[in-house]
Amino acid sequence: MLKKSKGLLNFFIMLLFFFCLILFLYILYDFYQEIPREPINIEVNVPKSYENSTKNGIQFQPNMKFNHKNITYYIDPNCDENKKKRMKDAFRILSSESGVIRFDEVFSDYADIEVSCSNNYESDGEKDFFIAGEGGAKEIIKSGNYHVITKGVILLFDYPYRLAKCEYPNVELHELSHVLGFDHSNKKDSLMNPLLNSCSQRLDYEIIKEIRRLYSEEDLPDITFEDIKLVKSGRYLNMNLTIKNKGVIDVDSFNLSILDDENRVLEEKEIKNLKFGGGIILNIEFLRLKNPNTKKIMFFLDKENKIKELQKNNNFLEVRLI
Ligand SMILES: [Zn+2]
Repeated sequence: MLKKSKGLLNFFIMLLFFFCLILFLYILYDFYQEIPREPINIEVNVPKSYENSTKNGIQFQPNMKFNHKNITYYIDPNCDENKKKRMKDAFRILSSESGVIRFDEVFSDYADIEVSCSNNYESDGEKDFFIAGEGGAKEIIKSGNYHVITKGVILLFDYPYRLAKCEYPNVELHELSHVLGFDHSNKKDSLMNPLLNSCSQRLDYEIIKEIRRLYSEEDLPDITFEDIKLVKSGRYLNMNLTIKNKGVIDVDSFNLSILDDENRVLEEKEIKNLKFGGGIILNIEFLRLKNPNTKKIMFFLDKENKIKELQKNNNFLEVRLI
């Protein structure tokens, strides 16, 4: 009886011993995993997202546009009634011909387009063309595929004596088209011909078509990864992430999430106010892998799909660690 219970006791002692040994080895292994290793650079291929900047040939820069369809203008009160009327006619004509943009008069110079007048006229004798007006996009922000116009100016001179005064607001429409990013044309019947030699010159259909194309798109942000530098040291990750907004409007807030291959969240960060054309560089240090043998990690922008964007397929990136 005594012999039997002694044997059982030995058995339990042995069992306890093995249990302690396994626990010890596990702690040792875990401790070993925590030891920082030689840092390894992990190559990350960020797809060069869509920079499709083929020039359409009729604009100064590819995809030049305001980031809204209701464009405001302000006419300097010093402009005489005739100039005011002709300018307003030009706004009305472009709005109705395009069918996609609207121009609203406002009475402050915070307007998108500022119109001012000068009693002088300037002519460039050398090049033999009139400067009856000057117009252009004054401030442009390049963002992804777009050149977003944030301010336009038009200056109307008194017509030079040689210039036929047209009933139709040729000069005003010409300058307004410059503001919207359209370049000169050498077609004789084009209103964008630098020489106003006939009152029957009209806006090219290509310009109307291009305005329709640009402004029928919804104005949205587009957050995406620009660059990721990743260093793995044992089970720890150090990284520099460049995130950009390549859309045409700002984005208030979104989340960056980093997950492992078992969909466990390693990091979740809120990024606030990313302006269009702008970016942010995030530095994340000592990000601990839940499993030291994790083969890949995944980066998501707006994983919860809360914001509407130009493109959603550039919000995800998978990186192999081994
Ligand atoms: Zn011009």
